Amino acid sequence: MGIARGTIKGIIGGVDDLVDLAVPRTCGGCGAPGVRWCGRCEAALHDVPARIRTTVETGVPVWTLGRYDGARRRAVLQLKERGRGDLAVPLGRAVAHAVLHLRAWGEVDGAAVTLVPAPTTAWAARRRGGDVVTAVCRSAARTAAPVCPVAVSPVLRSVHAAVSVGLGAGARARNARGTVRVRSLPAPGAVVLVDDVVTTGATLAESVAALARRGVAVAAALTVAAA
Ligand SMILES: [Zn+2]
Repeated sequence: MGIARGTIKGIIGGVDDLVDLAVPRTCGGCGAPGVRWCGRCEAALHDVPARIRTTVETGVPVWTLGRYDGARRRAVLQLKERGRGDLAVPLGRAVAHAVLHLRAWGEVDGAAVTLVPAPTTAWAARRRGGDVVTAVCRSAARTAAPVCPVAVSPVLRSVHAAVSVGLGAGARARNARGTVRVRSLPAPGAVVLVDDVVTTGATLAESVAALARRGVAVAAALTVAAA
């Protein structure tokens, strides 16, 4: 009996080891072993949102969870480049808390909020294994639901934003102009434009303009990080 139990334990242990090999169990924010997301990184992302100035004027207040470094940077990169789709959940929680702060401050007004993910190209979405910003927004909506109804409307599409890599601020702004398409109108509610990282603000500006042309006012833009 003792031997049998030991064998079973050994098999189970072996299966666990295989699972660990396939999906490394490390914190997506700091690399700490044994957990997918640690308490310290959770706390680091739950600071109050900060308002920032962007190089390209967006026409709406731009808020961010913080600088593009530490847990924010690592989590965004792991989610986008390393297939860590599970990180959309903690990032979404952080976005939800920021949205609720903006509501409490009167920066986002209305009974309901609609999160509009910043546009991604179909190519980028495929490469990332899905649109990660939309996944973050859906997680945020679930977190905020008990406090405030939050809809997610992924209505923006980018035509060729991928080629902006390596361009200066002015060139990026020119490159972004006219490249955002509004496929359909977002759900009713105060519109908050959401992106992972803001650099110049060009994509946010073009998104705000594209929505405005369809008669949709954006209350605020919110990003996980500011580079
Ligand atoms: Zn961590």
